[in-house]
Amino acid sequence: MSEVRVRIAPSPSGFLHIGTAKIALFNWLYARQTGGTFVLRLEDTDADRTEEEFVQAMCDGFKWLGIDWDEGPAFGDEPQKGDFGPYRQSERNQLHRDAGQKLLSEGKAYRCFCTKEELDIERERAQKEKRPPRYNGKCRDLDAAESQARHEAGERNVVRFKVPEGQTIIEDLVQGTVETQNKEFDDFVILKPTGDPIFHLAVVVDDGDMNITHVFRGDDHLTNTSRHAMLFDALGYDRPIFAHLPMVLDEQGKKYSKRLHGANVLDWREDGYLPETMLNYVALMGWSPGDDEEIFTRDELVKAFSVDRLGKSAAKFDMKRLQWINGQHMRTMPIEELRDRVLPRLSEAGIDFSGKSEEWLTQMAAICQEKLKTLNEIVDYTDFFFKDIDEYNAKAVKKQFQKEGALDRLEIILAVFQENDCTTQALHDAIEAVCEEKELGLGQINPLVRLSLSGKMMGPGVFELAELLGKDECIKRLENAIEYVKGL
Ligand code: GLU
Repeated sequence: MSEVRVRIAPSPSGFLHIGTAKIALFNWLYARQTGGTFVLRLEDTDADRTEEEFVQAMCDGFKWLGIDWDEGPAFGDEPQKGDFGPYRQSERNQLHRDAGQKLLSEGKAYRCFCTKEELDIERERAQKEKRPPRYNGKCRDLDAAESQARHEAGERNVVRFKVPEGQTIIEDLVQGTVETQNKEFDDFVILKPTGDPIFHLAVVVDDGDMNITHVFRGDDHLTNTSRHAMLFDALGYDRPIFAHLPMVLDEQGKKYSKRLHGANVLDWREDGYLPETMLNYVALMGWSPGDDEEIFTRDELVKAFSVDRLGKSAAKFDMKRLQWINGQHMRTMPIEELRDRVLPRLSEAGIDFSGKSEEWLTQMAAICQEKLKTLNEIVDYTDFFFKDIDEYNAKAVKKQFQKEGALDRLEIILAVFQENDCTTQALHDAIEAVCEEKELGLGQINPLVRLSLSGKMMGPGVFELAELLGKDECIKRLENAIEYVKGL
């Protein structure tokens, strides 16, 4: 088989949509797995002046995910890559027009001079008769010379493809055999009155000229594919192999709207998700590995991916699962890497950690590693290290500080901290011993320690965080807590 060439052909509309990312991922995985080529082609014919920004925003999404392309257009400082350019549809207009002309000259297409009014009347009649609205083929058999003369005289016309007789069969890698009778299609328009191409022609010419071998794309295009197959045949290109993949659905099971948070792939970066999580999750929305494995790195995905395990039905977005996967990736990450990924989140939250050593910061990341579900949670998990407690969690005050005996227990805790080394192990052992001696449960002590030291109900392990705070600071905070409880 010839070298695999796949592509993603998005319209740059301002950001990388999660659904486009999914389609891109499967094309990319296939290319990486087979040693093929992944092409980025911009379908930018509708774009307006802000297009450069739109392209940039979309490419930022791909870059964050690590979906890199081997061929694609120039933008910003980056030059065009690849020998099949240009890679912007807007720059390929002449190629599309030429293809339309070729079909015309070979008698595989014809000019249609029907006016909008005529077509409207036809459509209404079809509606009344409960027939699908189809072009009636009036101009199909116009004499070619006459047709050309009318065109040259400036009469408004479109070019329609002469749908051949017979049937079109597509062996879709996901949908199976898709068989359509060509008579279900009318002679569809391929060139507009301006001579510009319609999507169907443009996409076929681009795929054909770029030697695209496989097209993984959204199943919303399935109904277009028979038309595309006819055009591939008519233009003398080899048809690519198609795989139509289900859309990404939101949590309610509706198509993931552009307006929803999370439609933009970079929303997830903002929310503290790892790019490897998104790749992993998005892959599992359309593909099943065939065993219980759920966590995949990028390289593991490339190895494990198989076309025959692509799913036919759409998956609903599942935040819980996404969070869980994110947590798993954070747990398996080398601790220094996790540290380096969480620190920018602290900076963004205005936390100055410049006074802390690298070792301390690594330790801070380490005590959170088992608990974090997103990178952003680091702020809530650790901000108390960097500032005095100005407020205790109100719920916890009720549950802990206002409980009977809280003050006595805080005094016991303070003594433990005063008399022991401030290490996780020493504190743990000493608290356990004192609990036994005073017949107290750990549940009566540890939440009080946590609340006094961090002001919160949840966070990293209490003795771990105490060790990082240091003995003097712990004692100061415990004394403050005692004063606070006395004042309640
Ligand atoms: N621009 C089209 C889309 O984003 C591309 C269709 C295709 O992949 O052929 O849906």
